[in-house]
Amino acid sequence: MPSKRRPNIVMILTDDHAAHAIGAYGSVVNTTPRIDEIAAEGWRFENCFATNSLCSPSRASILTGTHSHVNGVTTLETPIDAGQPTFISQLREAGYRTAIVGKWHLGDGDGHDPQGFDYWDVLLEQGEYHDPTFLSVDGLRTERGYATDLITDLALAWVERIESDAPWCVLIFHKAPHRPWQPDAKHAELYSEPIPVPATFTDDHTTRTSSARRAAMRIAEHLNTDDLKIDPPTGLDYEAEALWKYQRYMEDYLRCVASVDDNVGRVIDWLRDRGDFEDTLLMYSSDQGFFLGDHGWFDKRFMYEESIRMPLVMSYPRVLSAKGVADGIVTNVDFARTILDAAGVEPHPRMQGRSFWPDLAGGAGEPPVDGFYYRYWEHDDVFHNAPAHYGYRSARYKLIYFYNDGLGLPGTGAFTYPGEWELYDLERDPDELYNVYFAPDYLDRREDLKVSLWKLQTELGDSAHVSQPRPERLGQTA
Ligand code: CA
Repeated sequence: MPSKRRPNIVMILTDDHAAHAIGAYGSVVNTTPRIDEIAAEGWRFENCFATNSLCSPSRASILTGTHSHVNGVTTLETPIDAGQPTFISQLREAGYRTAIVGKWHLGDGDGHDPQGFDYWDVLLEQGEYHDPTFLSVDGLRTERGYATDLITDLALAWVERIESDAPWCVLIFHKAPHRPWQPDAKHAELYSEPIPVPATFTDDHTTRTSSARRAAMRIAEHLNTDDLKIDPPTGLDYEAEALWKYQRYMEDYLRCVASVDDNVGRVIDWLRDRGDFEDTLLMYSSDQGFFLGDHGWFDKRFMYEESIRMPLVMSYPRVLSAKGVADGIVTNVDFARTILDAAGVEPHPRMQGRSFWPDLAGGAGEPPVDGFYYRYWEHDDVFHNAPAHYGYRSARYKLIYFYNDGLGLPGTGAFTYPGEWELYDLERDPDELYNVYFAPDYLDRREDLKVSLWKLQTELGDSAHVSQPRPERLGQTA
């Protein structure tokens, strides 16, 4: 018997589940009693953020504990080198049994299949909601049923097959509630009453840069019949059609979330039935947030709040006797070191971020951070028109730089848009409706923030885009 029992670890990670569609985060559009139960049994993180608000890059950061420029998964077109150290490979070296079931979408074949897992069984690329195809060491197969249920079934079945006394870690990575939002029959009738519309739904983005205004994410204009399954009624004006599309979009999105919540409940009940709930580090999170009609948008990518905020709740009753809400800044890069810390396993020296385990469990730890570094790498000028950008967010301020290289003339690579900045004062403007980059009251602050951004970017091994001048206040030496 080891002198100190190590936790079993269950990480449930969904794809595109915004925190503001979770009851514990104050949702006004749905209820999620089972996800809320984890928060009630442990901790809810008020300020957990994705450092690159896109599916595959965030998943790579979570696994490797590194920023995108370190792990190499900067966009959807950059498959992972799956041989790099992850918290999974570290756990396995320390004697854990390890598995991943569900969404991988970090490439397949040629060194991109999952590594470091005793068992892996993943959806092919984005995967399907109904009768999905899975890829494992045994090759491809199709499973009959609904993806969110099947992923849970397969994950729990793997744990039940473990014969040793070794601790185990299972990643239950759902496709839901990612586009194309196909609910199962059980939840198909939910949310047919009018769904509350966010206050910023008609935001005209007046003070934002042209970089942000170019985005093709407007519900009114860019959600199509494929997404909504039916055409809007004829004869609606622009505003009425926008609201009709919002309702249709949200109905299916929230129905997919309802299945997730049920399956989170299945995991909780299963852990309790086994007598393992107290000794399991149970985490629920999503790879990033999502615009749920906020600013008139769907999707993510941008460094705005609804997009970058990740839900994160976790319980481990045996050790975390205190419960509550953690409001310090944590990021997806911190997950790896935090999980390893909870398991008493050394992090790989390459891992970045900070373990926030001592914030919950007590003991010595690194000091909290003042802010974090964000970088979205994909110009995506074909699909969603969200240009690449980077920035720095502190508890109060957010500075964003859109560098816009090669944008404007498709196929030519010609530099036609200039670099552009945005600055938000989140204390006075939590909805980010007023870009104050040029506001006289903020000129001094913005220059300080440029220094913070530059320093952190450099410290993390990334560098400023060639179009960004070195901050004047940095002085002559770095
Ligand atoms: Ca995602």
